[in-house]
Amino acid sequence: MTNVPHDCGCASARLRIGFVVDRELNAQECAEVRAHCETCSECAEELRFVDRLSDKVRDACGECPPEDVKARVFDAVAQKIGRPLQF
Ligand SMILES: [Zn+2]
Repeated sequence: MTNVPHDCGCASARLRIGFVVDRELNAQECAEVRAHCETCSECAEELRFVDRLSDKVRDACGECPPEDVKARVFDAVAQKIGRPLQF
């Protein structure tokens, strides 16, 4: 028996979702997060949401979104999910 709370991997996946869409994780970490999202509809939805936002920002700004735009996107995400994103 253990006192470790059940963790399906959501916490660690969600911490890394923003990095996945920014391509700031290495290939193995991206694969881990995306693999988790294949088994977890909540995280998959969050990944899709952040992915779409990120694409919109890229479309609107060209290759490299300025930092303040990124900050506003992360802010919008934080409001949608009801807590700050932690990077
Ligand atoms: Zn999950």
